[in-house]
Amino acid sequence: MSKILVFGHRNPDTDAIASAIGFSYLAKQKFHLNTEAIALGEANEETKYALDFFNVEAPRAITSAKEEGCDTVILTDHNEFQQSILDIEELTIWGVVDHHRVANFETESPLFFRAEPVGSASAIIGRMFQENQIAIPKGIAGMLLSAIISDTLLFKSPTTHSTDKAIAKILAQLAGVDLDVYGLNLLKAGTNLASKSGEELVNLDAKTFPLSGKSVRIAQVNTVDIKEMLCRQNALEEAMKSENKAKGYDDFILMITDILNSDSELMVVGDNVKLVKEAFDVEWESNHAFLKGVVSRKKQVVPKLTESYAR
Ligand code: ZN
Ligand code: ZN
Repeated sequence: MSKILVFGHRNPDTDAIASAIGFSYLAKQKFHLNTEAIALGEANEETKYALDFFNVEAPRAITSAKEEGCDTVILTDHNEFQQSILDIEELTIWGVVDHHRVANFETESPLFFRAEPVGSASAIIGRMFQENQIAIPKGIAGMLLSAIISDTLLFKSPTTHSTDKAIAKILAQLAGVDLDVYGLNLLKAGTNLASKSGEELVNLDAKTFPLSGKSVRIAQVNTVDIKEMLCRQNALEEAMKSENKAKGYDDFILMITDILNSDSELMVVGDNVKLVKEAFDVEWESNHAFLKGVVSRKKQVVPKLTESYAR
């Protein structure tokens, strides 16, 4: 049986990598597939912290499945083609496990598709292990746990589902860590922003969304010090502008999320700044605004923009 590649979205976050590792293992046990977890990019600092902590090898980063001699893939933590592997349209999608909206997605054949509106794809996979009574190795439990913590910002994000905490508790036990202590250490590991250039920051965790025919790039960085990032507004705006120019995005939005207080500062550049400003009922000051209680790109930012761009 030829190999099936399992991967999360481009610009992988902890869930993209952990869900691929977890589902690759589960698919071997449950479906007897010959899978390999890979990644569509290098692991970020938060993910590296988790991989090191649980002594799990980082998946290889690749950009094309065909170059690997593979034509069948499994997508985790995403389904939209523009967030997937470059040659996705030429591949057979065996299955999807996701917790995002379903958009820009189409297959020729039937497939395994599991999408639930929960906090993390890794939470779904953790529960699948349980449903199928498959033992979770310690390292995989630790990675799935890390992804749930990362995506839900330690259960503070409105994307958190009541089942997330329950599965996280079980995973923490299997992984042998204190959920809250490990959780905060993990989140802090991803907030080391001072050493990064503007260009690096706006590419850390960025996704492209087609909104009413416009290509909108939305990046998010986690911090414990929003002010430090606002001091770098000029450099960040320059980086966002050159991304727009180089990659053809119409607009670039940066969410700077305070993981301790669960608020975000939004910065925007592009052709439709007005539409972005109108999407949120707040005061804007030189292309940035404070959004109280906003931490979720997919639940609190993308839906508002979708509405505003459609007007
Ligand atoms: Zn993700
Ligand atoms: Zn996720």
